[in-house]
Amino acid sequence: MSKKKELIFDTVILGGGPAGLSAAIYACRGNIKTAVVDITMFGGQPGNYQEIENYPGFAVSGGFDLMEKFEKHADKFGVEKFPMQEIQKVDLKSEIKTIESLDIIFKCKSIIIATGAKASKLGIPGEKELFGKGVSYCAVCDGAFYRDKVVCVVGGGNSAVEEACYLTKFAKKVYIIHRREKLRADKIIQDRAFNNPKIEFVWNTIPLEIRGENNVKSIVVKNVITDKITEINTDGIFPYIGFTPNTELFNGQLEQTPQGFIETDAYMQTSINGVFAAGDVRNTPLRQVITAASDGATAACSCVKYLEQNQIKIPV
Ligand code: NAP
Repeated sequence: MSKKKELIFDTVILGGGPAGLSAAIYACRGNIKTAVVDITMFGGQPGNYQEIENYPGFAVSGGFDLMEKFEKHADKFGVEKFPMQEIQKVDLKSEIKTIESLDIIFKCKSIIIATGAKASKLGIPGEKELFGKGVSYCAVCDGAFYRDKVVCVVGGGNSAVEEACYLTKFAKKVYIIHRREKLRADKIIQDRAFNNPKIEFVWNTIPLEIRGENNVKSIVVKNVITDKITEINTDGIFPYIGFTPNTELFNGQLEQTPQGFIETDAYMQTSINGVFAAGDVRNTPLRQVITAASDGATAACSCVKYLEQNQIKIPV
């Protein structure tokens, strides 16, 4: 069995989305030896967004383009990048912390958790079985497969309504199935959907089952006011019902909300000394690129201060 490589850093940032890359810029500029590690390539969730139009200074930007700029900016200050690292174990509690991937053991004095969140699942029959066969959590990735087809989006937040509008570029009809009769999405996004002739709202309705053999054929839904059950024929289902934090590796090690979001103070300090959290993974009222980037900057500055105040030595 080959021995794992050991690498030593002042701080390791877990997650290469806007929070992680912003933290990397600030940490490197704070002159601490910094690594950023991700299970995939860098860019996080916004890397999959077709358009971002509320990041200040960029009236409209492609999500991928904006995240590429973040990454290049972090490169400029010398961050060491480790993409495609499947982390198996993390020890947050010891003074010298360890993060173990399949082939590397990272030893570090501090950790910034910026692992973001993943799409929540509906948890109904057919969802798992038909994933990739009509069930998708990424309109930008899969929208083009639905040219002239019918799709259903589930949810009433910004993601659901924005992605439904995006899907009308391809699909001939997009249903938005929402459990209430009022959307949660921002007014400007709602207006776009209300004015889009390809979008039809199915109010006060929850999905019960996704049907199909090799591909999605229909979704069975229930009106929560009348209890009436109906079946909508559709080629694709895009659930956008919020996000679940990527915290499986840390669960039980630090304080979290009942949903798993990590609790921090205003300095992004978690319940463990030397461990900071930033972006969508933490308990925060707003989840945007700008707030993730802001969290990352705060976390890195707090981390630099922590390292100044705690002269930790890692034996080589
Ligand atoms: P969200 O704001 O939490 O909305 C989730 C939606 O799904 C809600 O409408 C919710 O209904 C519904 N829902 C939740 N659980 C459900 C279930 N089990 N079955 C059916 N419906 C369910 O999530 P999001 O839209 O993904 O947004 C997440 C964050 O990212 C937000 O802070 C959002 O503002 C931000 N975001 C911003 C932009 C932008 O500014 N351009 C774009 C995307 C996302 P209820 O309304 O009844 O709770």
